[in-house]
Amino acid sequence: MKITSAQFMRGLMGDDEVLHNDVRQVAFIGRSNVGKSSVINNLAQRKDLAHSSPTPGRTRQINVYLINKSFYLVDLPGYGFAKGSKQDRNELKKLIDWYLFDAGINQSVIVLIIDAKVGMTDLDHDMLDLLEEAGKKVVVIANKVDKVKKSEYQKNMKAIQEAADPYPVIPYSALEKFGVGELINQIVQVK
Ligand code: GDP
Repeated sequence: MKITSAQFMRGLMGDDEVLHNDVRQVAFIGRSNVGKSSVINNLAQRKDLAHSSPTPGRTRQINVYLINKSFYLVDLPGYGFAKGSKQDRNELKKLIDWYLFDAGINQSVIVLIIDAKVGMTDLDHDMLDLLEEAGKKVVVIANKVDKVKKSEYQKNMKAIQEAADPYPVIPYSALEKFGVGELINQIVQVK
């Protein structure tokens, strides 16, 4: 499959009818600054579909895009941005948790993006545990593999794969557009 069209639908701070029609949803989640906007942009072959911000933690809403007129790509706010106020962080966390766990939405897949160089952080682990407990389908993207030294690649990927078990991990570089085909396959496979 090729992504031929991507159309911005809504920026949400809470519930909306688009979340409850029959269009399937593929959600993207990750720590702030992990490269989520970059991954979404190269998936959609657009420079600026998702706003890649030089200031981490700026995207405070759930952005919904219609892809190929067939499914929604749901871009969730980044989590764990250390510099925001505690209240801001709590509000974002509430919004994310609501969409993932309380809104009664059965996402067809959730794409969790982590940093391949940093590895899985405590926050990533917590998120993955919650997703697994909730019985969600998940694909883990290990982004920024271009930053991992060749000599450390095997060790890093093995550790990430073990931590992500039972979910698949896709080595990825938004910068080098590496792994895009595999991500698209994973998104398309699920119904
Ligand atoms: P977001 O906050 O998760 O949406 O992250 P952004 O897409 O805004 O990216 C955060 C920073 O990481 C930016 O400076 C990007 O250029 C950089 N970045 C994103 N993906 C990659 C990648 O695959 N490799 C490298 N080296 N840098 C990346």
